[in-house]
Amino acid sequence: MKNTTRAIHTPYQRRDAYDALQMPVYHTLAYEFDDAEVMADAFCGRTNAPDYSRVLNPTVTHFEERIAHLTGAKEVSAFTSGMAAISAMLMSAASAGKNIISSKHLFGNTYLLLTKTMRRYGVEARLTDLTDPAAVEALVDENTCCIFLESVTNPQTEVADVKALASIAHSHGFPLIADTTMIPFTQFDGKALGLDFQVVSTTKYVSGGATSLGGVIIDYGNFPEISLFIKKDCVFNFGGYMTPHAAYMQTLGLETMQVRYDRQAESALKLAKILESTPGVVSVGYPGLESHPQHKLFIEQYGDKGGAMLTFDLESEAACKRFINGLKLIHRATNLFDNRTLAIHPASTIFGPLTQEQRDAMDVKETTIRLSVGLEDPEDLYSDIKQAMLA
Ligand SMILES: *Cc1c(COP(=O)(O)O)cnc(C)c1O
Repeated sequence: MKNTTRAIHTPYQRRDAYDALQMPVYHTLAYEFDDAEVMADAFCGRTNAPDYSRVLNPTVTHFEERIAHLTGAKEVSAFTSGMAAISAMLMSAASAGKNIISSKHLFGNTYLLLTKTMRRYGVEARLTDLTDPAAVEALVDENTCCIFLESVTNPQTEVADVKALASIAHSHGFPLIADTTMIPFTQFDGKALGLDFQVVSTTKYVSGGATSLGGVIIDYGNFPEISLFIKKDCVFNFGGYMTPHAAYMQTLGLETMQVRYDRQAESALKLAKILESTPGVVSVGYPGLESHPQHKLFIEQYGDKGGAMLTFDLESEAACKRFINGLKLIHRATNLFDNRTLAIHPASTIFGPLTQEQRDAMDVKETTIRLSVGLEDPEDLYSDIKQAMLA
């Protein structure tokens, strides 16, 4: 089966009483048992019958199974948001006294999680240039517990060599973990690339219509003690398990993800190409462009489509503000991979609360606009971009 088929035809663990074609939303907290023995088996994990919806719910399980079916993962765990999945993942890999090697170019809250929140629990973040394997190797010591990368950094659009990082991690016996939110997991084989775990904000491509928050850990089963910590300690003790309604909406999103991605990535490439020769545009950041410094590596790792996020630089911060204010069709909003196109000036918004020093260290520039390309006709999008540029 190809992925587009597989996304829709994942069998249910059990048929529902009415043979519903769509997995029902089991809006229930508790479940009744026929007798004390069956009940004890469920509570002690000897069967996989749900007992309480903070830790197991059939609608969420079905969503997890669909992603496992699509990715070949051993186990998938769904959380209430991308950050809940990322924090559960890193709290599972690390413990007091350990260090995590990662990039200076990180999603804002992940950067704060690593450099501020986890520091409080005795975990050190060693941030470096992940495109330089020698720099990574130099940071490894006996307390390193994982390397954590983002498939395409945002807004820098930097791409690291996953196989090179995997060989460093595996030669020292610790896992390679990637936040692959920026490219749908149907586009590449994470296991073949050498990833041990993927974390994904399903708020983005999976949800599609920006209907719901969600996050998943895609676990290939190479580090069973970490898997156990995710499923037991994180889900049970931290909470943060996905809600059934979100799982329902995200399952629907998953069914159309590939079709949406193909269309959005195609439009993004068209726009990136026209923007490259648009007066007033200083540079364009899009891994699908041949001019992108890691274009070849990107294609090798993540397939022939460059994603639906692009950035471009204008001459000044003032030009960026004028552009944002001049938009008529494209929405001024954060979020990525909505069905509608969104524009944002990252330096003054997402990274606004950080200090200038932190923004400089993360290479977040005042002159950059980020565009998340939706499903509209690309000609309409370009018309809006052009008129906003002249505004
Ligand atoms: C959005 C995003 C997150 C956080 O996801 P939420 O669902 O908003 O918690 C993490 N990493 C990346 C790369 C993202 O784009």
